Amino acid sequence: MKKALIIGGGIAGPVTAMALRQAGLEPIVCEAYDDVAGTQIGAYLTVAVNGLSALALLNAHSIVTEIGHPSGTLSFSTSSGKHITDMPIGGTLPDGTVTHSVKRRDMYRALNAEAARRGVRYEYNKRLVNATPTAQGGVSATFADGTTIEADVLIGADGIRSRTREIIDPTAPKAHFLGIYGLGGFVTDRSLHDALGLRPGVYSMIFGKKAFFGYFVAPDGEIWWFANMPRSRELSRSESENTTPAQWRDQLVALLWADRGPAARIVAATPDDTFVPGFNQYDMPTVTTWHNDNMVIVGDAAHAVASSSGQGVSMAVEDAVMLATCLRDIPDTATALAAYEDRRRERVERVVAHGAQTSGDKASNGFGRLLVRLVTPYFLKKAAKAGVAPLNWMFDYRINWGPEHLAPGQPVIDRSR
Ligand SMILES: Cc1cc2nc3c(=O)[nH]c(=O)nc-3n(C[C@H](O)[C@H](O)[C@H](O)COP(=O)(O)OP(=O)(O)OC[C@H]3O[C@@H](n4cnc5c(N)ncnc54)[C@H](O)[C@@H]3O)c2cc1C
Repeated sequence: MKKALIIGGGIAGPVTAMALRQAGLEPIVCEAYDDVAGTQIGAYLTVAVNGLSALALLNAHSIVTEIGHPSGTLSFSTSSGKHITDMPIGGTLPDGTVTHSVKRRDMYRALNAEAARRGVRYEYNKRLVNATPTAQGGVSATFADGTTIEADVLIGADGIRSRTREIIDPTAPKAHFLGIYGLGGFVTDRSLHDALGLRPGVYSMIFGKKAFFGYFVAPDGEIWWFANMPRSRELSRSESENTTPAQWRDQLVALLWADRGPAARIVAATPDDTFVPGFNQYDMPTVTTWHNDNMVIVGDAAHAVASSSGQGVSMAVEDAVMLATCLRDIPDTATALAAYEDRRRERVERVVAHGAQTSGDKASNGFGRLLVRLVTPYFLKKAAKAGVAPLNWMFDYRINWGPEHLAPGQPVIDRSR
């Protein structure tokens, strides 16, 4: 049985592990932090139907639907409270499943718990520092604690600042700061509902004058929110450690105060213990090398999709499933990794380009441009009028799990639905 060493226990890591196990390989996940990794950044994620359909191939999409909430439509408004338009986020799977929103912390925990429950071996506090090919055609990974693990293939699911990407290609591009801090939080105080006219199930995006604000009212009434605020320089570790939730709250409320709508009051009502403090947001230039003979990257390590596109998780999940089918069906590891890139690159680059287009130019002072592009009612109205159809290529993409899928001459992707 081929042994696969997976670096990273975020989203791509546990899904790759489940897919490889289902494909008959022996995966081991090595995560740099303890089991709360990934829970500190960002409040919640939207998992699109194409990602849910790829998870369904592993019998794992109920992991998301059980802990998340349906959120198939976005509602956009301006800083003056004017409704711009509503926009659907994908269609409906045959079993009725639509796009879901899920708390990031819950998603990381649930996916990793399920992979472990299915028998995947986990090593926590295990940070990859280097990896080299072995004489036997495998790979030997070295970790910060001085230990080494050997495997037939090493899969870097280690996120946007991937060490694996650097090992495969020392000249690979690095993530660059977008000029935006993200923040978020959760509010259980239901007295806000009447005061602010909030409706459960509604997922709103507000183009504030000085910050972007999104919120979702869960069916149980809890308010989930995130905000993007412009900042000229990267938040340092010490600033991050020394800024209290109250200080973040004050800064953000000051930016949102002049806007009409519920944003400032929702932020002001967020208790310290559910406040997600500010974090840097990054972008990734195109990564030209995804693999060598026995190492490969998946998820954000290979391609960071703009967070505004809501496709980062789905791309990571699709990568994981496709990689597993390649490693299952193609005995030679180097050929399998090349086939994986071949089958993924075009799709991923199209999604990345779409995300970049809808988010505007994310150059160093990109926030202003991002708002200008996004706030344009014409752009949004045009997109909404067209409905979800022009984005069918993104949401309706399906991967076949069947082995015949990779036989010579067979189509790789079933786009029939
Ligand atoms: C603010 C924000 C909002 C977003 N919203 C959405 C959304 O609504 N919908 C959506 O689909 N996507 C969204 N995304 C994108 C999504 O979060 C990512 O695409 C997704 O998390 C990628 O998963 P991953 O497993 O590739 O990387 P990650 O989730 O970053 O996981 C990488 C893991 O690798 C570990 N690691 C790193 N280095 C090492 C090492 N050297 N050794 C061992 N382990 C290591 C890390 O600790 C981490 O656990 C958003 C992103 C941000 C920043």
